[in-house]
Amino acid sequence: MRAFVYSGQPGRVVFGPGTLSQLGREIQALGARRALVLSTPEQRASAEHVADLLGDRAAGIFDRAVMHVPIETAREAREVARTLGADCAVAVGGGSTTGLGKAIALDSGLPILAIPTTYAGSEMTPIYGITEAGMKKTGRDAKVLPRTVIYDPELTLTLPVGLSVTSGLNAIAHAAEGLYSVEANPVMDLMAEEGIGALGRALPRIRANPADVEARGDALYGAWLCGIVLGNVGMALHHKLCHTLGGSFNLPHAETHTVVLPHALAYNAAAAPRAMNRIQRALKGKDAAQAVYDLAKDNGAPVALRDIGMKEGDLDRACEIALQNQYPNPRPLEKAAIRQLLQDAFDGVRPA
Ligand code: NAD
Repeated sequence: MRAFVYSGQPGRVVFGPGTLSQLGREIQALGARRALVLSTPEQRASAEHVADLLGDRAAGIFDRAVMHVPIETAREAREVARTLGADCAVAVGGGSTTGLGKAIALDSGLPILAIPTTYAGSEMTPIYGITEAGMKKTGRDAKVLPRTVIYDPELTLTLPVGLSVTSGLNAIAHAAEGLYSVEANPVMDLMAEEGIGALGRALPRIRANPADVEARGDALYGAWLCGIVLGNVGMALHHKLCHTLGGSFNLPHAETHTVVLPHALAYNAAAAPRAMNRIQRALKGKDAAQAVYDLAKDNGAPVALRDIGMKEGDLDRACEIALQNQYPNPRPLEKAAIRQLLQDAFDGVRPA
């Protein structure tokens, strides 16, 4: 018998094509009257559409969300929210926009309604990150967990194929590590396997036809489940490596997850056989690490750190940083083996 702790996260999910049209009702259910709509500059048009749907419940738009939530942007957005008398933030976009909403909520306690348009999964977690003087600080606070999430696959139709595939693998990484987390539990295992399977089936269909709403819906469903896993159980070596590579070497978020995951799984394979079984079953492969690698490569995603901006001369330093403040991991972190993992990821070799 396996012992575990399980705590459900509160939060309301409205899922399905066209569900954005229910925004007014959902804002009303939150008791909000003046919603500040958040987006990146690139998704300004989506923010305007959302503001139009909100009508006189829209307080305004703040369209300057960027990757990793710089403290200056967070302060500016908080000030705009205060000046406009906002009583709610509506974040339409990926993890960067949701992250900005979380930074506002952390300071003010304003409820967030999230409308995710990538598969990153931040909307399902109480984890926030804010970057100050080049250092990203992360933390957990129940205040930042969005109260309501509207998952409308139609909003993901514009997500470029490349980012769809890497963002999908970013989601798979949450579920894969959740399966061998020290906090793993049976409920999360079910969600993780189902989430990986849904994304594994959806990504090739999205690549074949980015306008396939069914496939987009399956991917978003998988991303939701993988996001729940990320929000409920602690992550391990893979996430530590990605935080190192993203934080200290400025590598792009979803691509880094895509490249590193097969190698992190290969590193942990012998120490986490049950997790590997679930991953390979979900992806209908013979080996978890190889199945993830093939999913990325066959769908045109990068598989080598050298192709996403990493310099070979920085691998030693990345290894040193990755060994500091370690996350619990099924296999102890061995310096030579981690350095080899990074080399394999740099070269983009298929795990043996
Ligand atoms: P992102 O939010 O930075 O988006 C990448 C780009 O894609 C942006 O220009 C965005 O405007 C654009 N985009 C997003 N959706 C689109 C769509 N449907 N159509 C067209 N363009 C679209 O990328 P991301 O990978 O979603 O998020 C990455 C960030 O989220 C990182 O900073 C990461 O640390 C954070 N994150 C946090 C958590 C958490 O739990 N706190 C979880 C996952 C990711």
